[in-house]
Amino acid sequence: MKTGLVILREQGLHETGNHPENASRFPPVLERLTGDSRSRTLPVFESREASVEDLLRAHAESHVENVRVAAGNGPTWLDGDTVVSPESFRVALRAAGASLVAVDAVTDPGGDLSSAFAIVRPPGHHATSDRAMGFCLFSNAAIAARYAREVLGIDRVAVLDWDVHHGNGTQDILYEDPSVLFISFHQWPLYPGSGWLDESGAGEGRGFTVNLPMPPGSGDIEHLEGFNAIAGPILEQFDPGLLIISAGQDGHVADQLANQNLTAAGYHALAEASARFAERRGIGLAALHEGGYNPLTLPLLDHAIYAGIGGFAPDLSGDVPAPDAGDPGWVERLGQIRRIQSRYWHL
Ligand SMILES: [Zn+2]
Repeated sequence: MKTGLVILREQGLHETGNHPENASRFPPVLERLTGDSRSRTLPVFESREASVEDLLRAHAESHVENVRVAAGNGPTWLDGDTVVSPESFRVALRAAGASLVAVDAVTDPGGDLSSAFAIVRPPGHHATSDRAMGFCLFSNAAIAARYAREVLGIDRVAVLDWDVHHGNGTQDILYEDPSVLFISFHQWPLYPGSGWLDESGAGEGRGFTVNLPMPPGSGDIEHLEGFNAIAGPILEQFDPGLLIISAGQDGHVADQLANQNLTAAGYHALAEASARFAERRGIGLAALHEGGYNPLTLPLLDHAIYAGIGGFAPDLSGDVPAPDAGDPGWVERLGQIRRIQSRYWHL
């Protein structure tokens, strides 16, 4: 398994001030991950600018224009927690473009990369087709999935979202689309409030949205069981030609925006399981950064993911241990999820 990194040099120009999603998140992450790349001679790709046409495969024209104009007049707030500054539109185009670079790299028939990790901000998974929200301007994952479908001609694409918040934006865009499977692990209840287990797609897309609302206090064991019992078997049956991961690490035990107990080892295991699936199927894996807001632990968590998709041993020293809290209500929840999903999949 060979992996690579996609970096966004302009990320600091998306200025959000005193905000959890800020320009100081990624410099320490990039220092650690480019160090991994150097020591293992793994390629590092530059971002490119996505076109407006790329965005319009997932977003309404009015939304793209609203963000462009608002950013130009910035700093200004698009919703209660989403701020843009004058360069934000351009950075968002490059964040989407970095996601497309990752997809190109792992689907290049002449290339040797099986996976890539795009370190992008602003994050994307809360942005709906016509609205910015939750620190997100455009859904990088949905844009990448539609690009893979419509430009690269890949029949079926899977998006696996393990950010602790529900990926309502990506879900909204793909809700009626049977060619893109959307699977989301997220704490429930939590912002943005959506993602209950009966949200499973509509119209022709019915059955192609899979929500795993995890009880507060869920950790490595619960997430890995969810992967092995639900996400993994559904991915196998869906048989995608590309796997996109919305990689948000804010379910970590030391992240302040939620109440989950994942550790770096858990994130590594989720990444490794995803990469094993992709490798078995001979398909590419593109991981796109979403949340993760504790500056002390984010470099470690992103390293754990990079190692997981790259098939090398992680150095997990410095992680924060999870409390032994017993079953947070997961056993019952898993039964509920299985009952719902058994309408559509063999589980
Ligand atoms: Zn999040």
